[in-house]
Amino acid sequence: MNRYWSSVVHTLTPYVPGEQPKQTGLIKLNTNENPYPPSPRALQAMAAEAAESLRLYPDPNAERLKQAIADLHGLTPAQVFVGNGSDEVLAHTFLALLKHESPLLFPDISYSFYPVYCGLYDIAFRQVPLTEGFEIDPDDYRIANGGIIFPNPNAPTGRLLSLTAIGAILANNRDSVVVVDEAYIDFGGESAIALVNRYPNLLVIQTFSKSYSLAGLRVGFAVGNAELIEALERVKNSFNSYPLDRFAINGAVAAIEDQAYLMETCQRVITTREQLTQRLAALGFEVLPSAANFLFVRHPDRDAGELAVRLRERSIIVRHFRQPRIDQFLRITIGTDDQAQQLCEALVDILE
Ligand code: PMP
Repeated sequence: MNRYWSSVVHTLTPYVPGEQPKQTGLIKLNTNENPYPPSPRALQAMAAEAAESLRLYPDPNAERLKQAIADLHGLTPAQVFVGNGSDEVLAHTFLALLKHESPLLFPDISYSFYPVYCGLYDIAFRQVPLTEGFEIDPDDYRIANGGIIFPNPNAPTGRLLSLTAIGAILANNRDSVVVVDEAYIDFGGESAIALVNRYPNLLVIQTFSKSYSLAGLRVGFAVGNAELIEALERVKNSFNSYPLDRFAINGAVAAIEDQAYLMETCQRVITTREQLTQRLAALGFEVLPSAANFLFVRHPDRDAGELAVRLRERSIIVRHFRQPRIDQFLRITIGTDDQAQQLCEALVDILE
């Protein structure tokens, strides 16, 4: 107990992000970053912002960015919310839309930040077990709830839920907000943004950190019915007027304008993912089908924690979660073809 801390601080169990090593030259496959650089157009737009205008505050509403996101998805800017990474968008969503009397539902295996936000905002929650095959079953979400949230593709499994199944969850829960966290959707999934105008209870959250290669810039967004967005704006404007700086607003707009680059780099990641899936299967790994920029794998007779240590000795970092049901899995980010080659060589060596 610390006598200077508020009682809230004593109860918190903060999220622990994957390691960002100081050491250079490592093959970093632990935090789902994109191996390719951001769009040159985005870099150029940001460089142009290092100017005298930095003495002025940025646009508190980031209107250019909201317009660009709205145009891309055939929506209006009033249906778009932007924040400092999708983690901040998620945080505001938990407080603005998911804190109710009945418990919030999310899968037992999903993004480990969700229970942390519940702790921070004192939100009751219930974890719904994934099926044996680590899938979300929409029928498991037909219970009383104060909201529903899940990543799609799910993290850390990589498994994708179909739009039909998402539609079923939405239709069965018209009195709750259903949040689909699409951090990894551009690597092969179909976005639920297509359902936003049909379901007023749907909020879809995306990020520039993964497919757009801008994890360092911290830009995320939510789209949904204008009334849901208004709730997020009320929380945001009670917390920080300027979550996006001038670099973030202009870099993200330019990245959106370069859709050809986005598609090319995502396709490269997808191709590497499919090849790596085959190669790991040939080494005896069980590989869950992934629609994300990572694979979730386990070896029938090698301890996952030990494999992670052995890879680390060979300068390759992957993510291992010491958590029930998944402590024998490794989550491996899709890097370049060359990194996949080095990973496979290291695994052949370790498994010998
Ligand atoms: N949602 C999921 C499922 C994630 O894995 C991540 C990345 N850790 C995020 C949201 C947050 O990403 P960011 O804050 O970089 O937008």
